[in-house]
Amino acid sequence: MSFRATVLTLYPEMFPGTLGQALAGKALARGDWSLEAVQIRDYATDKHRSVDDTPAGGGAGMVMRADVVAAALDASCDEADPRPRLLMSPRGKPLTQARVRDLAAGPGAVIVCGRFEGVDQRVIDGRGLEEVSIGDYVLSGGEVAAQVLLDAVIRLLPGVMGNAQSGDTESFEGNLLEPPHYPRPAEWEGRTIPEVLTSGNHAKIDEWRREEAEKLTRERRPDLLGG
Ligand code: SAH
Repeated sequence: MSFRATVLTLYPEMFPGTLGQALAGKALARGDWSLEAVQIRDYATDKHRSVDDTPAGGGAGMVMRADVVAAALDASCDEADPRPRLLMSPRGKPLTQARVRDLAAGPGAVIVCGRFEGVDQRVIDGRGLEEVSIGDYVLSGGEVAAQVLLDAVIRLLPGVMGNAQSGDTESFEGNLLEPPHYPRPAEWEGRTIPEVLTSGNHAKIDEWRREEAEKLTRERRPDLLGG
């Protein structure tokens, strides 16, 4: 069974969006994953089809209504559905490559995209939504965030990446950033390729890459090394 993504959004026409192109798009066309974009507004019950309301206690902005989001969720996945239910949210646990791998190994994901100031806390609690953040900044909606998450997951699905190996030597695997790459030509604007890379000595090349990866990681992301 292939990976099933269900995305709940006020802007279903934003999907597949970037995921309809290139690697993810080809995988979608092949059936390596499937996508259903659900219009949350279809589950509004009043005559204005309203999906948001003002927050109790006052404050700026509007909040997505619990009843409408819950109705959209209940229609999209029942209790037996094994897929994790995620809510894209700047308050969530930051997305990591390890979490992306976990998701890629599973049956799929149900993803709620917030808009306005966010979602009524009661539907987060009542439907067990796991909040996931893509970084410490605020977007205008969860749609781009959901596409970031799905893009990262889809490229790891079986058969999606041409060179299967490139999945394990990349940034964040083994808590290291990726070492630099040097394709042809041997010299460009006076800059040459590090000699070891053209030596044909694979043990030396591996050692050099490892050292470069460690150096970069120490300089740029000591937090990955636990420092
Ligand atoms: N008032 C909220 C921000 C709302 S932004 C707060 O201060 O926390 C509107 C929606 O955009 C959110 O509900 C969420 O779905 C999405 N969003 C914004 N930033 C995000 C981020 N860094 N990661 C994931 N989703 C994000």
